[in-house]
Amino acid sequence: MRFTPEKPPLTGETLETLTARLKEQGEPAFRAQQILEWVYKKRARRWEDMTNISKKLRTWLADTFDLMPANLLFDKQSQDVTDKLLLELRDRSLIETVIIRAPQEGVGLEHSRKTICISTQVGCAMACAFCASGLAGLKRDLSAGEIVAQLLQVCYREDASTQRARDELASFDNIVVMGMGEPLANYDALIRALTILNAPWGLGFGARRITISTSGLVPKILKLAEEPMGFRLAISLHGATDEVREKIMPVNKAFPLAKLLPAVKTFSEKHGRMVTLEFILIEDVNDSIDQAGELRDIARDLHAHVNLIPYNTVEGLPWKRPSIERQEEFADVLRAARLPVTLRREKGHDIDAACGQLRLKTEKDREALTV
Ligand code: SF4
Repeated sequence: MRFTPEKPPLTGETLETLTARLKEQGEPAFRAQQILEWVYKKRARRWEDMTNISKKLRTWLADTFDLMPANLLFDKQSQDVTDKLLLELRDRSLIETVIIRAPQEGVGLEHSRKTICISTQVGCAMACAFCASGLAGLKRDLSAGEIVAQLLQVCYREDASTQRARDELASFDNIVVMGMGEPLANYDALIRALTILNAPWGLGFGARRITISTSGLVPKILKLAEEPMGFRLAISLHGATDEVREKIMPVNKAFPLAKLLPAVKTFSEKHGRMVTLEFILIEDVNDSIDQAGELRDIARDLHAHVNLIPYNTVEGLPWKRPSIERQEEFADVLRAARLPVTLRREKGHDIDAACGQLRLKTEKDREALTV
């Protein structure tokens, strides 16, 4: 499912494709580089800011491309270390982009590590039982330009007038493709967007600092293993046996663990990278000590890092987070095997940080306004 805008976003063009378009206009090859420099290095927000581009060409660009296909609707800053941007696209679809700061010991928040979590679809078709994004199903895929635009909107915050924005958001350390949507279900747009983020003429962001998180689309994991850019991979596992995983992740029916785990191994062997296993801990669903033992065996076999995430309550869903004691007992099973494990402490609860919640609330508010 795609949306065809009136004008394609400039943020979806590569140096190659833009050079070809400009060549048709009789422009020299270096012109595309100049324009992209305005977009990604100087972060021009209006065509007229591009002062070394002729007025005639600027008019053609404005008639041909959309400079920024996503408008910032809300910029919600939480009391802790997570911020959330709600963006509106040209067809009024809403997407979320989250900024997570991880403070470093002994230094102020301004020196924290910053991770940007981006979305790849509007809604999601994967229907994971615990997830707000999957509640209303898939509306459509994002284009490459819309994916890239999320990062630019984060960069624009540098210009914000508050000291906090200037100090903290001048740069970021990691990108995780872990927001709304299943990234590998929108494979071509994802790879094009990441190529633009990675390229020296784009945002110049190293592939090793970009993590793609998937619910487990096996054929696409194998395809990703063949990509020359060495992105990192995270698997949303959330169940360490088929029985438990199937209850909360319908994708497990098509790609059970017997198919998924060998594909993950292929990826990590090919790229020589440690894969991350994401595991949302949900009370009485997947938080048993038996599950911890199964997870330990999987992680050991894959030489994987395990990221345990206590469940973030979603309005309208019955699931709960386990007690802190249970979370620690679960983590201890993995720690005892000397596996790299992180037990994440919640960030951003006060701004509906659970993936997809802010968007759902805003959609509901809009519906209420139009009845
Ligand atoms: S957890 Fe991810 S894959 Fe599953 S429904 Fe939510 S957005 Fe989709």
